[in-house]
Amino acid sequence: MGCYCGLEKDFNECCGAILSGKKSAQTPEELMRSRYSAYVTANAEYLVKSATKENRYSDDIPLILEFCKNVLWLKLDILHAECPVGVEQKESTGVVEFRAFYLENGEIVILHERSDFVKNDGVWEYDKGEFINSKIE
Ligand SMILES: [Zn+2]
Repeated sequence: MGCYCGLEKDFNECCGAILSGKKSAQTPEELMRSRYSAYVTANAEYLVKSATKENRYSDDIPLILEFCKNVLWLKLDILHAECPVGVEQKESTGVVEFRAFYLENGEIVILHERSDFVKNDGVWEYDKGEFINSKIE
């Protein structure tokens, strides 16, 4: 069995290592994957912590937990990931387009989002996301 994020790696070697702070996300895609796994494992604190300072809302933690309790995450598809400035730079930016699938009230919801990531002083952070379309099937 692979990681929740879909990679054929053990969770503890993949997103688990990032969630526990054992290693840091090296690319926007890795951070995106770890955030998806944080949703799967209802790790709301990590979701808040991995956002940029301006977007860190601790008040959201109960809402995130409530949401996680009511949905069943199915899978993550990374459609596109880019980092024009380069992943090695201390300050950088990146974009990841993905689809996340979850089951809510017996319906499959597809969350299609383009997320912006920024690297501040060597640490990748989630900045904001733009919904491309979300539909219920
Ligand atoms: Zn993973």
